[in-house]
Amino acid sequence: MAERAKQIAILGSTGSIGRNGLEVILASGGRLQAIALTANSRLEELVAQARRFHPRWVVAASTAVAKGFDFSGLPAGTELLVGPEGVEQVASSAEVDVVLAAIVGSAGLRGTWAALEAGKTVALANKETLVTAGPLVMELARRRGSCLLPVDSEHSAVFQALQAGRRSEVRRIVLTASGGPFRRHSREQLRQVTVEEALNHPNWDMGPKITVDSATMMNKALEIIEARWLFDLSPDQIDVVVHPQSVIHSMVEYVDGSVVAQLSPPDMKLPIQYALSWPHRTEGPAERIDWKQAMCLEFEPPDLERFPALGLGYEAARRGGTAGAVLNAANEAAVAAFLERRLPFHKIVPACRAVLACHNYDAHPSLSQLLELDGWARKEVAHWIQ
Ligand code: NAD
Ligand code: MG
Repeated sequence: MAERAKQIAILGSTGSIGRNGLEVILASGGRLQAIALTANSRLEELVAQARRFHPRWVVAASTAVAKGFDFSGLPAGTELLVGPEGVEQVASSAEVDVVLAAIVGSAGLRGTWAALEAGKTVALANKETLVTAGPLVMELARRRGSCLLPVDSEHSAVFQALQAGRRSEVRRIVLTASGGPFRRHSREQLRQVTVEEALNHPNWDMGPKITVDSATMMNKALEIIEARWLFDLSPDQIDVVVHPQSVIHSMVEYVDGSVVAQLSPPDMKLPIQYALSWPHRTEGPAERIDWKQAMCLEFEPPDLERFPALGLGYEAARRGGTAGAVLNAANEAAVAAFLERRLPFHKIVPACRAVLACHNYDAHPSLSQLLELDGWARKEVAHWIQ
C-alpha cells in the first residue's frame, strides 16, 4: 500500500527557506505535500504558490498588508486565513504532520510555539526562536513529546554527526562559518561597508536579515546559542572555525579524538529535505559534490577582534536567562536600521552590546517577560542610534 503523503505546513513560504522547501516538496514525487502556506508580504507570490501547490490553507500573516489585496486568484479548495492567529491555527492543525518554521526573526516564535504545543514535528529554520526562548521552547517540546529538528545547515550537520556515537562520548562540536563577504576586510574597511556589499554573500542566497548577520558574524553568534539549547551543550563545548568554502557544514569531535563531519555543496535544500523526511533519507534535488573536480577545503580561526559579535554570542550562551532574547531583538532592530541606512555597518554589534549590557537580567524569565524584553530592546536600539 502506498504510504500517505506527509502534510507540510510552511510558515514563511515566500522566503528563501520557504521557496527551497517548496522545491523539495515538488521533487518528492508525492511523498511530501504542502497543506498550508503562510507569508507576511509579497502576497502575489503567495497566491502564485497556492495555484501551483493547491494547499488546504494560505495565511496572510499581516492584517494590514492583506487589507485591500485581491485574493480572487486563489484556487478553489484553498481557504484564506488572515492575521497571526491564522499562522497559529495552521501550525497546530490536526491535519498537519510537519511544520517548516521559516519565518524570519522572533516573529516566528508564536507559530513554532503553537506547533510544539500541539505535539507537531517542527523542522526549525527560525533560529531566533531558540535564541530568544531556548530553555522554554525545549521544555515545551519535551513536555508535549514534539520533535524539534534542525534546518540550519550547521545544526543539521551536527545532528547527523551525533548519530556516529553516544552523547556521553561527545567532546565538543565545531560550527563552521564561511566568514562572510568581509572575511579579509581590515577594521578601516569594515567602517565603509555599504548595504549593497553586505547583501552580497559569497556562498549562500538567503533573506536580507540573515545575509547581514552573516556579514557581521552575528549569525554564528546566534548559532552558538541555538546549538547550546538544541543539543544541551555547555558553551565551552561549542567551537567556531572559519571555512570559506562552506562544504563542511559542521563537525562533532568525540572523546577519542575522532571528528565526524557532514559535507555537501552549500544548498539549503539538503538540510530542509533531511528534516522533512527524517528519519529517512531519500533522493532529492540538492546539488552534489563533484569528486572528479579538484577541491580545496580551508580552515582558519575566527578573528574575534574584527568580528566581536562572536564574543557576544558566547556571553549570551553562558548567561542564558534573558540574555538571548535581548541580544536577538537588539540585533534585529540594528540590522533593520542598517538596511534603512540609519546605522553604519560597524555600529550594529556595538548597539547590541550596549543594549545587552544595560538590560534588567533575569536568570529564569517567563515567556511573557521575554516577549516584553524583545520589545524593550528594539526601543533601546532606537534610542542608542539617536
Ligand atoms: P526571508 O526574509 O527570505 O523570508 C522570511 C519569510 O517570513 C517570508 O515568507 C516572510 O513573508 C515571512 N515573515 C517575515 N516577517 C514575518 C512576520 N512578522 N510574521 C509572519 N511572517 C513573516 O528569510 P529566510 O532567509 O528564508 O530565513 C528564514 C529563517 O530561516 C530565519 O530565521 C533564518 O535565520 C533561517 N535560516 C535561513 C537560511 C537561508 O539560507 N535563508 C539558512 C539557515 C537559517
Ligand atoms: Mg546556518
